[in-house]
Amino acid sequence: MAKKFACRDIGLECDFEAESESREELMQKIAEHAKSAHGMEQIDEATMAKVEAAIKDAPAEEEEEEEEEAASAAAPEQAEDEQ
Ligand SMILES: [Zn+2]
Repeated sequence: MAKKFACRDIGLECDFEAESESREELMQKIAEHAKSAHGMEQIDEATMAKVEAAIKDAPAEEEEEEEEEAASAAAPEQAEDEQ
């Protein structure tokens, strides 16, 4: 099952989200992001524990949130030609 992680889940004000088929790959993405975005050359143990705890299983199929908009079928009013 795919795994996902979001910085927000560990209390960071950051919109980064990563998803991967394997935990190893996900950790790699997180490490790269931590380095480039948060200046962490290495993720320390305390942070790593938080990251591990925040990793969730991602559903195989993406949830599609479809907003149903009620299409108004009202025909445009046609002005009658005055003679
Ligand atoms: Zn981040």
